[in-house]
Amino acid sequence: MSLPTLFISHGSPMFALEPGVLGPRLGALGRALPRPRAVVVMSPHWMTRGLRVLNGVELETIHDFGGFPRELYALRYPAPAAPEVAAEIITVLAHRGIEATADPIRGRDHGAWVPLMHLYPDADIPVIQLSQPAVPAPLALLELGQALHTLRERNILFIASGSLTHNLHDFRAEPDADRSVENYASTFAEWVWGRIHDGALGDLLDYRTRAPFAARAHPTDEHLLPLFAAIGAAGPDWVHSRRIQGGLTHGVLSMDAFMFGLAQDMPLADVFD
Ligand code: ZN
Repeated sequence: MSLPTLFISHGSPMFALEPGVLGPRLGALGRALPRPRAVVVMSPHWMTRGLRVLNGVELETIHDFGGFPRELYALRYPAPAAPEVAAEIITVLAHRGIEATADPIRGRDHGAWVPLMHLYPDADIPVIQLSQPAVPAPLALLELGQALHTLRERNILFIASGSLTHNLHDFRAEPDADRSVENYASTFAEWVWGRIHDGALGDLLDYRTRAPFAARAHPTDEHLLPLFAAIGAAGPDWVHSRRIQGGLTHGVLSMDAFMFGLAQDMPLADVFD
C-alpha cells in the first residue's frame, strides 16, 4: 500500500499548544496511516531560489516567530534526521533534471514541526525538509511535486505544510473577534475543497482569478502554493482525496488539511468523524 500525500494547514504557531479541531484528527491520522520510514516536509517558512534539502545529522527546532508565549519557545521536536533520505531526494530530483543541494546547517522550521507534534507526537520517525521554491506559480509547484511522486512507493511521506487561508492582517486586526463563519475565509476554503473533490485541477491552478476572495484569502500566496506540490506528489492518484476539517481559527485562518492518493481500504474513520 503506497502512502498518500498531505497538505496540512499549520495556522498560527500557537497550534502547537492549542490543538483545536485539527490536532486530534492529525493524531488519529498518524496512528491510522502505514508507518513511513521518513517524512519530507515542504514549508513556506523555508523558501529558496535553488532547491535545498536538510541533510544535517541533528536538526534543531527553529522558533522562527516572535511575540508568542514563552512556553512555545520551550517546545522541541526531536525527531531523528535522515541524511540518507536527503541524498535519496536529491537523486530522485536529479533523475527528473531538477537540481537540489544539501543543507547541513539548517534545522526544522515551525511549518514543519508544529503540525508534526500532532501527527507524530512521539517524534520517532525521521523528518527532513525540502525547501519551497521561491517561484510564485502553482504550476511550478505542481511539477515539482510530480517529480517526487515515487516517494509514495519508497514509503516516504510527503507533507506540504501551508495554510488554506492566510491573511495575517485580518488575523492580527481582530484576533478575538467573533466572526461569522459565513465569511470570505470559509467561502474560499469551500471553493478549494469543491474543486479538489471534483478533480478540477485547471480551476485550482487558476485559483487566483477563479476563486472567490482569492486575493483576500492570500494577499501573497506562499502559504497556498504547497497545496500544488502535495497534489503533484500524489501522481494521477491525487483525485482520490479526502478533507480533514480543522475549522477556522480566529475566524479567518482555515485549518483544513487534505489527503491525496488515499487507498480505499485505509482505516481512517476516526479522522473524518
Ligand atoms: Zn506559516
